Amino acid sequence: MHCPFCRHDGSRVVDSRTAEDGTSIRRRRECQQCGRRFTTLETASLSVRKRSGVVEPFSRDKVVVGVRRACQGRPVSDDQLAFLAHKVEEAIRAGGQALVDSHDVGLAILGPLRELDQIAYLRFASVYSSFDSLEDFERAIAELRRAEVVSS
Ligand SMILES: [Zn+2]
Repeated sequence: MHCPFCRHDGSRVVDSRTAEDGTSIRRRRECQQCGRRFTTLETASLSVRKRSGVVEPFSRDKVVVGVRRACQGRPVSDDQLAFLAHKVEEAIRAGGQALVDSHDVGLAILGPLRELDQIAYLRFASVYSSFDSLEDFERAIAELRRAEVVSS
């Protein structure tokens, strides 16, 4: 972290504040050489461990791609998908961990997707939770019906 005034690379943090959405930290720093102050914005990194063990940075685009497949033929817009991915990222970041399993990402998708489109939710859940019988679908549908009764 170089001072923007004198390029010195030693600075002292005088104040730090987490952004409201929890995705970045704003730090007020003071250069140890020239004494001037500047602000840095640091984005907290978030990584996902895939089932294969490979670790890669969390990507909203990947969430969108995965969910879009389940939304084929459904009245779901790109904006809604982008918003869903945003909610998923917020939910995961709220957990405060820098590394999560891809399984956790799937779990975080289920809730917002259920609110967005029930058919897409069933498709996604059937693949994600590896439904292998009609009973699995029946159970998921019964849960959706119960949720509808509660919310109406
Ligand atoms: Zn300086």
